[in-house]
Amino acid sequence: MILFGPPGSGKGTQAKLLRAALGIPHISTGDMLRERIASGDELGLRVKGLMQAGRLVPDDAVNQLVADRIAQADCRDGFILDGYPRTLPQAAYLERLLEERGYRHLVIHLKVDYTKVIARIAGRRVCPACGTLYSLTSNPPRQPDLCDRDGARLVIRDDDREEVIRERLEAYERLTRPLLDFYRQRGSQLHEVDGSDGTPEEVFERIRGLLKLQ
Ligand code: ADP
Repeated sequence: MILFGPPGSGKGTQAKLLRAALGIPHISTGDMLRERIASGDELGLRVKGLMQAGRLVPDDAVNQLVADRIAQADCRDGFILDGYPRTLPQAAYLERLLEERGYRHLVIHLKVDYTKVIARIAGRRVCPACGTLYSLTSNPPRQPDLCDRDGARLVIRDDDREEVIRERLEAYERLTRPLLDFYRQRGSQLHEVDGSDGTPEEVFERIRGLLKLQ
């Protein structure tokens, strides 16, 4: 399952709900890259500046990360891709990978308008310890700035600063949005879901309805 949509459209939140409902792994290239940055390994060092500036990481690096991840045993029965593919070369690479390994795919496009996206991202906070996401407007922590689960002090992701958000939206328009046509031309199963209104659970209900999940 490919979750598609601009930054801040709720892909990560929906991916976590889908993982729980479907029992298949959630693969977020953004999370994997941030883990590599935190660990300070060679890839992490290479991509840190790009990510902080809201630019995309080179295709070969993310392609390799995804290829390695889906080769793991827990992906046998399927997986949820969040934030990948993001460019046409990534989509072409993924297509080959899925074909080689005998997977079918479907695409869920979370649609939201940009004014909402900017407000959402600006209010986003994340727990550095467990990764739980909060929104100051729609899903605030019980105590200001502290994670409900482990009490860690919440942080703003480096690339969630307002000047960087615009760069990310620009990269989405230029490099990622064209993938919708790629998938249309392929005749892929492509579902559009309104991600602008309602709580995350309500958006999830829309996806569940589309997929006819129990
Ligand atoms: P969002 O979807 O909110 O932008 P992500 O966590 O998915 O957040 O991505 C954060 C950053 O990680 C991107 O701006 C980019 O620098 C890098 N990144 C993540 N996935 C990819 C990808 N598939 N290709 C290139 N860069 C990526």
